[in-house]
Amino acid sequence: MTHKIGGRQSLVLAIYSAEHRRLMEIFQPTRHLDYSELLASLGAFMEKEILPISPKLDAGEISIKGPRKAVFDQGISSIPFPTEYGGLGLPFSVFATAVELLGTADASIALSVEIHNGVAEGIFRFGNEGQKRKHLEGIISGKALASFALTEPASGSDAGTMATTAELKAGEYVINGSKMFITNAGEADLYLVFARTRKGPSCFILEAPNPGLKFGGELKKLGMKGSKTSEVILSDCHVPEDNLVGEEGRGADYAKEILHGARISVAAMNVGIAQIAYDKALAYAKSRRAFGKSISDFQLIREKVADMKTEINAGRLLYLYASAVKESGGDFSSEASQAKVFATEMSLRVCDEAIQVHGGYGYTTDDLHRHWRDARLLTIGEGTSEVLRLLIARRELARSP
Ligand SMILES: Cc1cc2nc3c(=O)[nH]c(=O)nc-3n(C[C@H](O)[C@H](O)[C@H](O)COP(=O)(O)OP(=O)(O)OC[C@H]3O[C@@H](n4cnc5c(N)ncnc54)[C@H](O)[C@@H]3O)c2cc1C
Repeated sequence: MTHKIGGRQSLVLAIYSAEHRRLMEIFQPTRHLDYSELLASLGAFMEKEILPISPKLDAGEISIKGPRKAVFDQGISSIPFPTEYGGLGLPFSVFATAVELLGTADASIALSVEIHNGVAEGIFRFGNEGQKRKHLEGIISGKALASFALTEPASGSDAGTMATTAELKAGEYVINGSKMFITNAGEADLYLVFARTRKGPSCFILEAPNPGLKFGGELKKLGMKGSKTSEVILSDCHVPEDNLVGEEGRGADYAKEILHGARISVAAMNVGIAQIAYDKALAYAKSRRAFGKSISDFQLIREKVADMKTEINAGRLLYLYASAVKESGGDFSSEASQAKVFATEMSLRVCDEAIQVHGGYGYTTDDLHRHWRDARLLTIGEGTSEVLRLLIARRELARSP
């Protein structure tokens, strides 16, 4: 097949391995195997260009902008969108697997790209034709960076209580309020902003720069240090009436729908984070000696290897399953949440065990404990584990006869 994602397919890939492909042969949502060459090529790019610079991003030695652009240039964001808007028109499971590869190579870029793609999905699903024609191609090619602005200082999980307002005056909405913890803030060309109108929470496209759009200082974070996170301050921020996405008062529904899809990507990203931590633990276990033998010969270390491997593959199958349900057109909110809750908690366990296998070096090596620090965000962001467990239970109780 022909595709935009190209490059050095001859590289031997640790991160799109024969084993991963074997898994796909057995569990093959939407002919996933048809795209194994494309994914291997993308994986080769990640391994060569992104994996090596990831510690520098974590240390703040380089900016995310160059490597993120290189990732966009590979076509990653275009994977799940129709060709008429410049996309590749491929199944969502292919995009999710690409996000797994990116999560293995660098979690900060994966976070930035995954949120950016959530905005593209929002405009694609809920925007009008004019908005799609104007914005989609730029976003999915990565020429324009997008940001999703829902959370506020006093409302996160309970986003429906947002205090930011949008008032229609002379053909423009005037937005006032602030948004907290916003990824890509200050860098993005377009913000998908949620604000309350007379009819309730609504969704707007806000193009930067705008005199009413300002940013708080960059927030200090435990992990995901390569990505930018700031408060977004909206002060008499005028947007044209045409920039309302969908219907007034439906913004909370749109945000939920966007987040269901994004949760599959977050699950995939966490499988990627767990995979790199596991790979490092395995290599270290084979090389480190204690009591006259390799520590990989100790049964208690072998137990960790077995558990880590089993959990990673379980997370992988869950996000692929959720992708398959999404592609089938049904309600996938429970499956997406199951994948996210399991994969995010699983990657924390795997990263923690990887530190344990490394002993003192695990605690003192940035390049190892950053995987745990990166993973730590994702039981919180895009739906906390607590709130998603409530969602899963609610859906399953409603589904049962
Ligand atoms: C680095 C980073 C990047 C982010 N990027 C973005 C972004 O790009 N765009 C965006 O809009 N937001 C973003 N967020 C915000 C993120 O999505 C929220 O932090 C998250 O939704 C949780 O909201 P909160 O922080 O207000 O916590 P709260 O909702 O206040 O929750 C606090 C605690 O209470 C628990 N809790 C709340 N309700 C219930 C309940 N009903 N039952 C049981 N427990 C409950 C929660 O699970 C949690 O443990 C980001 C956050 C971070 C830290």
